[in-house]
Amino acid sequence: ATPGVRALQPYQPGKPLGELEREYGIRDAIKLASNENPLGPSPLGLAAARQALGEVELYPDSHGFALKQALATALAVDPGQLVLGNGSNEILQLVARAFLNPGDEVVVAQYAFAIFTTVAVSAGGSVVTVPARDWGADLPAMRAAVTDRTRVIFLANPNNPTGTWHRAAPLRAFLESLPQHVVVVLDEAYCEYVSEPDYPNGLAWLAQFPNLLVSRTFSKIYGLAGLRLGYGVASAPMADLLNRLREPFTVNNLALAAGEAALADHEHVRRARDANAQGLVALVAACERLGLACIPSVGNFIAVDVGRPAGPVYEALLRRGVIVRPLAPYGMPNHLRITIGTPAQMDRLLAALPQALAG
Ligand code: PMP
Repeated sequence: ATPGVRALQPYQPGKPLGELEREYGIRDAIKLASNENPLGPSPLGLAAARQALGEVELYPDSHGFALKQALATALAVDPGQLVLGNGSNEILQLVARAFLNPGDEVVVAQYAFAIFTTVAVSAGGSVVTVPARDWGADLPAMRAAVTDRTRVIFLANPNNPTGTWHRAAPLRAFLESLPQHVVVVLDEAYCEYVSEPDYPNGLAWLAQFPNLLVSRTFSKIYGLAGLRLGYGVASAPMADLLNRLREPFTVNNLALAAGEAALADHEHVRRARDANAQGLVALVAACERLGLACIPSVGNFIAVDVGRPAGPVYEALLRRGVIVRPLAPYGMPNHLRITIGTPAQMDRLLAALPQALAG
């Protein structure tokens, strides 16, 4: 393997519920570890996926014609600007494979989504990690880190695991300041949760920036994480490149059908957004009552500083049937990331958390 691959830290996904049953014999565990939708899948999406089970002997439509039509209409873009992926992770991977030659530099922020580094290294890229500011990406510092060898910048808005976000004006200024040879991936996996008036819709900038790609997912607000469906939107020439590189059939029949139906499920999106907004405020208030600081988040999760190494607190929560995410792999050893769950799940967490903190 290359030195870059050997140096990679393994991605540590949220513990699956089944593992808690096997390890601790807990059958009613709750998972607040992967920023999934606690309301479940979009009902319209689920019904469509069930129906699509009737045609699993057929290969999926590799071009995703119907889903792309639906997305193009919903997003007011051309279908030729779209690339579909097996989760938005595949979109990130495609960008890395399409644009990176060995040794090319990839600029990411400290505390950025871990997969940015994985895909960059997997394509032979050399990752330049720029220190964060107030836990969020420091855009001027990232601009200053760009060199002649920089080929790709990955930036999530909002970012996971910190929940930090960028306002329209500074983000636009950042994009304008970049040289032409730099491809920017704006990862908007959580955009549907954000209601701040200053929060930009990256799609509005595609016409101005031919090297910009916006990635989104059906894993979060649409509740379809297990079906693996994401997409990228870019200029038509960039989308064309990625579609040529993409392997056929990575998006399956169920995902194609579910995504198309879920896109029209405005009711589910509205309910999930409202529930998340309430749950987020309530969880922050509860953490404050426990004397725990939170990084202000606009996503469906929050990074909580437990004021001591978070590993034992994480373990103690596990023993009480509550799975959260320790952020030590992100270099945040005192933080846990907690996904906003249903009110009942939050009650369960808040019953367990003081005990877990007490050791
Ligand atoms: N980007 C960010 C910022 C994420 O948090 C995630 C999910 N953890 C993804 C991308 C990838 O999600 P998926 O592959 O399920 O679309």
